[in-house]
Amino acid sequence: MLVEETDVKDASTRAWVYPLSVKGRFQRLHRWSGLALQAVLFVVPWLSLHGAPLVRIDIPARRLYAFGSIFTAQDTVFLVLMGLFAAFSLFFFTSLFGRLWCGFACPQTVFLEEWIRPIERFIEGERGVRMARDKGAWSAEKIARKAAKFTAFAGVAGLVAMVVVSWFAGAHALWTGAASMGAYGMVGIFSAVLFLDFAWFREQFCNYVCPYARFQGALSDDESLIVSYNAGRGEPRRAPGTKAVLGAGTLLSSSLAFGGEAAGTGACIDCKKCVAVCPQGIDIREGFQLECIACARCIDACEPIMAKNGQVSLIGYTSLSKSRWIRPRTVAYGGLLSAVGAAFLALLAGRSEVQATMNRAPGPLYVVDADGWVRNTYLLRLTNNSAKAEHYTFSLGGLPADAEAALPPVDLATDASVVLPVIVRLPAGDVSSRTLALSLTIDAQEGGDSISLATTFKTPGTDGT
Ligand code: SF4
Ligand code: SF4
Repeated sequence: MLVEETDVKDASTRAWVYPLSVKGRFQRLHRWSGLALQAVLFVVPWLSLHGAPLVRIDIPARRLYAFGSIFTAQDTVFLVLMGLFAAFSLFFFTSLFGRLWCGFACPQTVFLEEWIRPIERFIEGERGVRMARDKGAWSAEKIARKAAKFTAFAGVAGLVAMVVVSWFAGAHALWTGAASMGAYGMVGIFSAVLFLDFAWFREQFCNYVCPYARFQGALSDDESLIVSYNAGRGEPRRAPGTKAVLGAGTLLSSSLAFGGEAAGTGACIDCKKCVAVCPQGIDIREGFQLECIACARCIDACEPIMAKNGQVSLIGYTSLSKSRWIRPRTVAYGGLLSAVGAAFLALLAGRSEVQATMNRAPGPLYVVDADGWVRNTYLLRLTNNSAKAEHYTFSLGGLPADAEAALPPVDLATDASVVLPVIVRLPAGDVSSRTLALSLTIDAQEGGDSISLATTFKTPGTDGT
């Protein structure tokens, strides 16, 4: 039973969508891409490098752990560049490939297709059975199946919420009950939102909430890849079971290759399988619609129907006009993407894994000690942003050789900070200028970065300022 009654979306009221299951090459691709993305989502929060998380967004501490580096609030420029890179990547790939993100990589699609719909089919049956049951009266069996389905959905929602929050709170802490109450509160909120989405909201998220869906029309053009129906070959439609009339171009080997017109009636037998499988509840034969998420289920549905008559699918990935890789839009987005990527890499190459600032301690600029030496006191704030523990040593530069500093070596664990008083003294005989240049070099002995800080040493001297 494909379409006993229409479940195509009405403009004013929502008609529940009962997607028919479908097999095909794009669904296999979807399965593999979904598995790969879920592997990343589920596994990465458990990985660590040199004792620090491989990737973790620690919002309370305002830290991002990423592949052995730790980015803090002072690295905001990297976060901005990462955000811009993600945005321009989306713009660039949308201009070339349309909504492939929606169809194959968006978590909404992945979780609905890989978890929710299979669970629904397992518990409630295939499309026709579900439609008939929903239309029928409530019974003990109907209540039991709905209860089982929603319980399973709640389980999936809770699991996904735990995994998502693991990226922020840390997987070990969250799954062992050691995370903060705020983290578990977020799990509760995410679980509720995801359950609502899985159980009821579904395709409406793409149609009414997702910002990417709203502006993707502005990012693509007639040359972007879309899923479309070849009305030239398909129309006028024939009744199901009517013998096919082969037209020119019907024996092409790829569904991407459209063209040719059927003689007399069109090749579409109006079986509506492409409509029945659509998770968005649209009929692609009515032309391109913003609701289409380019999931290619309709292509997989039409392919075997047309193959029976030796034809390629009437639906395929194509563009409204001849597609060129190089055009103003792709060049602009590609250029911006490259510029942001290059800036990120350049800044990253120059970024130090040790973060240090040295400021004067509160009080007078200098003190003349009882032995006549001039003393300046600073506060050194040192943070180890590398993914391994470090042993730091210090050396002074710029001052005469007999200057002395009280600054013993220090060990810092990964992500640890320390504030150290730095006392620098200079013999009275070396004092001439009021201001002397001073540098402090911080050497990481375990292979990390070394940096130098520049400051000044103040004296009661009379030369200069
Ligand atoms: S029309 Fe086809 S590609 Fe578009 S959402 Fe429906 S099934 Fe997916
Ligand atoms: S699956 Fe193909 S043949 Fe059937 S209605 Fe859709 S376009 Fe026509």
